[in-house]
Amino acid sequence: MRLLMKILIVDDSVTIREKLRVLIVGAMPEAEVLQATNGIDALTLADKHLPDLITMDIQMPEMTGYEALRILQTRERTKTIPVIFLTGTFQESEDIIRGLELGAVEYVTKPINDHVFLARLKVMLRLKAYQERILMMSLQDPLTECYNRRYLMQRLREEFNRSARTRAPISGVMIDLDHFKAINDAYGHDTGDAVLLRAVSALRVAIRTYDVLARYGGEEFFLLLPNTDTASARTIAERMRQMIERLTVPAGGEVVQFTASFGVAGFPGEGLPKNPETLLKRSDEALYTAKEGGRNRVEVHPGGPVEIE
Ligand code: GH3
Ligand code: MG
Ligand code: MG
Repeated sequence: MRLLMKILIVDDSVTIREKLRVLIVGAMPEAEVLQATNGIDALTLADKHLPDLITMDIQMPEMTGYEALRILQTRERTKTIPVIFLTGTFQESEDIIRGLELGAVEYVTKPINDHVFLARLKVMLRLKAYQERILMMSLQDPLTECYNRRYLMQRLREEFNRSARTRAPISGVMIDLDHFKAINDAYGHDTGDAVLLRAVSALRVAIRTYDVLARYGGEEFFLLLPNTDTASARTIAERMRQMIERLTVPAGGEVVQFTASFGVAGFPGEGLPKNPETLLKRSDEALYTAKEGGRNRVEVHPGGPVEIE
């Protein structure tokens, strides 16, 4: 389980907040504990810090735990955060059911039994860690740990929508290793894999945190560059090309060197195509030109008006 857990305690009673905090820190000294005294603050803190778990009181001024829970569930960023809600001992079972139906995953009755509380908390944190791992696995390519195509398509749509709003330019680079089949044939599949990993580590050096590097096919990658015009995208691709041609991978007693070809395409903030796949298509066309032109080079798609889709 990930050690650095972030837990948000929401309760209007300072006594209960302090009790829970002491319990949590006693059991998990590395845990970071955040506190809110009502539902409104809870929503703000949850959105800002994305805690791994929330303990939520039901009866609070300003906004009840039910209402906060309902809103947490409607927001993309917070809807997978597990919530344990705290109820009074004589709470009607309808209240408990209501909380569970709203998406709380557990409940604890007051007065709080320390052992029961901690046991439930730990179960929830373990499930959250599994859930995160499975989510990462569903979005990543296992060999290179780049994003996969499914994630890329989702991000392409999001970035095109954002670009349509903000009028920021958007670019993409299709990257394909040159004569990769020959490397596999000459040195074996394991060396081929090592070459892929070295290439990816070089590509990663050249990107920013909000760029999206995805494995598009076997030895083909797509780099989505939000907020980037075509000229800058070309510069980034050229830097990557130069880095890759200098890499070496040992194979037996030999040293393997390799190159890659790059196809760049971009759109200004205005006149984005309705179909974001046009960016993939154009960068792929530019890549084809780079391959035809002799490989180990960067080509930029000439652009031009977008055909009706
Ligand atoms: P070009 O310069 O035209 O791109 O030639 P190429 O040989 O790189 O392209 P081609 O598409 O003919 O061959 C790609 C090869 O990549 C074939 C496939 O066996 C290999 N490949 C795909 N995925 C992997 C992988 O995960 N590991 C290894 N080692 N090889 C892979
Ligand atoms: Mg290739
Ligand atoms: Mg290929």
